[in-house]
Amino acid sequence: MLSTMQDVPLLISRILTHGQVVHGTSQVITWTGESEPHRRSYAEIGARAAQLAHALREDLGVEGDERVATLMWNNSEHVEAYFAIPSMGAVLHTLNLRLPPEQLAWVVNHAADRVIIANGSLLPLLAPLLPHLKPVEHVVVSGPGDRSLLAGADVQVHEYEDLIAGKPTAYDWPELDERTAAAMCYTSGTTGDPKGVVYSHRSIYLHSMQINMAQSMALTDADITLVVVPQFHVNAWGLPHGTFMTGVTMLMPDRFLQPAPLAEMIETQRPTHAAAVPTIWQGLLAELTARPRDVSSLTQVTIGGSACPPALMQAFDKLGMRVCHAWGMTETSPLGTIARPPAHVEADTDEEFAYRLTQGRFPASVEARLTGPGGERLPWDGESAGELEVRGPWIAGAYYSGPDSEPLRPDDKFSEDGWLKTGDVGTISPDGFLTLTDRAKDVIKSGGEWISSVELENALMSHPDIAEAAVVAVPDEKWGERPLATVVLKEGASTDFAALRSFLADEGHIAKWQLPERWTIIESVPKTSVGKFDKKVLRRQYAEGSLDVTQI
Ligand code: AMP
Repeated sequence: MLSTMQDVPLLISRILTHGQVVHGTSQVITWTGESEPHRRSYAEIGARAAQLAHALREDLGVEGDERVATLMWNNSEHVEAYFAIPSMGAVLHTLNLRLPPEQLAWVVNHAADRVIIANGSLLPLLAPLLPHLKPVEHVVVSGPGDRSLLAGADVQVHEYEDLIAGKPTAYDWPELDERTAAAMCYTSGTTGDPKGVVYSHRSIYLHSMQINMAQSMALTDADITLVVVPQFHVNAWGLPHGTFMTGVTMLMPDRFLQPAPLAEMIETQRPTHAAAVPTIWQGLLAELTARPRDVSSLTQVTIGGSACPPALMQAFDKLGMRVCHAWGMTETSPLGTIARPPAHVEADTDEEFAYRLTQGRFPASVEARLTGPGGERLPWDGESAGELEVRGPWIAGAYYSGPDSEPLRPDDKFSEDGWLKTGDVGTISPDGFLTLTDRAKDVIKSGGEWISSVELENALMSHPDIAEAAVVAVPDEKWGERPLATVVLKEGASTDFAALRSFLADEGHIAKWQLPERWTIIESVPKTSVGKFDKKVLRRQYAEGSLDVTQI
């Protein structure tokens, strides 16, 4: 029997129209570095998205599912592109501006982007790449920056504002199939070429509804969210779409991602929520410690992308900024889990803190299972550690492999029955909370036992003299692998490795056999293009002998 329900496709244009009409006075506020930020209402964004779609179709000839790339910071024009491109049926390709130039060129060529919308401030990055970007015919420039950098380039250059000026402020958005491509994002490609993940209208729509739920980010039109996570990093974790459903005002930092301007944005614009990876928050914490500000508006901070160090959570709690930890991947749109403790757990207890430190609980649409080294299913007992596999309506089932080829389903990424193998190792408690102990490739295999690099890092980062710490596996004749602890000291601090070892044992409750014997002080932990610890750089530096290692 068929249902008697209407079959209305879940389209991004519907999210746009809803936000534009029902939440027309909500705003996208973009930081400009000047005393007054730029403000644009959702109603204006909707009108300008329609104008952009007209311009792309009529002036630049964008047809069908052609890819239109953005090389942009978080700002209101980027939000316009977010909605205009998929709503007209084309595919938004957000470019990670922190990728090494050769990888950036690779993804533009692979996705066959014919148009790039770029912020003027990023032309120094784009201009030298253009000769290597074969498919690109048009560059649309928005915001301040030196246009002369594009002189002589073999592309047509347009001014964003001139291009959309005078175009109709409404667009008859097509009734697309909800399963068609809406946006794409390449993984940061730590090994081999980056892999393209293509989101559908349906997956983005359903994911947007999930992030808004009370047990997820729980934002309403009374909130202002500071979207620090870049729009090129898994769709800014779904915030631009989710906010248009609920009317949350977005505060966009543009290129001002340093701790001091972020602190100023918080003090003057009074956001209630913010989202970013731990590295950003470590920087902000140091800034607020050195120069205290009024951050009292900011009561909820979503942290994900890497494990949230307990010391960071405690420090933020003290400032009244309650951390909510979440886990996800480019392949999972990204929301995979979010750590809101169950209702029966008493507030402000150790039990509650322990729940908050987990990666969190799976929402109803994300199914999870753990697989042991021999391929066996492991129980959700909070103890058995295995590789996490997930499936669901916003989880990737394959990678993009070009317009005429079959999607890629490498064995190390997908199980035979189609689940995504996350490469993350951890446990799941009987009530569905995930605790990650490591990335499969970062875990330290010492004498047949596993040592969690994350556990050592978290314990080290709770030491008062340590700003950051990264632990990597290094080869060891006797044990196979042993941990190397690399630590960044706080300004003016000094240390003694033997004392740190004792601290790990006494305060960090790390078992004796897991304590690192190799130590080094570094100036900063190398970071990936999305601000995560880049452990492969540390492993390489160790192998080359360029680290000054002390053995104790
Ligand atoms: P990306 O696709 O670049 O966002 O990277 C996804 C990976 O980041 C995951 O597979 C995890 O290894 C890591 N990750 C994301 N969130 C967390 C978290 N809350 N705790 C630990 N690792 C995380």
